[in-house]
Amino acid sequence: MSIIAPKDTPVWVDERRCKACNICVSYCPAGVLAMRDEKSAVLGQMVEVVNPSSCIGCSECEVHCPDFAIMVATRSEFKFAKLTPEAKQRAEAIKQNKYKKVGV
Ligand code: SF4
Ligand code: SF4
Repeated sequence: MSIIAPKDTPVWVDERRCKACNICVSYCPAGVLAMRDEKSAVLGQMVEVVNPSSCIGCSECEVHCPDFAIMVATRSEFKFAKLTPEAKQRAEAIKQNKYKKVGV
């Protein structure tokens, strides 16, 4: 993506575009993203970057977002994590929690 990333941020959301469809959360292999309740949003939810340090920069979220609402930094802008067992576990827990934040 050519848009410059905010400093020290692997992935970020344009909340004006996001319609809370959950697609990016379901594609993320590392449990980086989750939905949060957001009263001001049309569907009452908003996507949130909950575990930025686990992001591996795969761009699955950005590629699959139908609204161009989520952006991933380039490798020169951010040092991405490898997919750790901890990240895999978090991703699985978020799936089982129906793509909401774990523990919500
Ligand atoms: S895929 Fe796009 S529109 Fe859907 S929740 Fe993610 S950022 Fe929002
Ligand atoms: S770039 Fe990959 S690991 Fe990072 S938030 Fe998007 S889907 Fe998840």
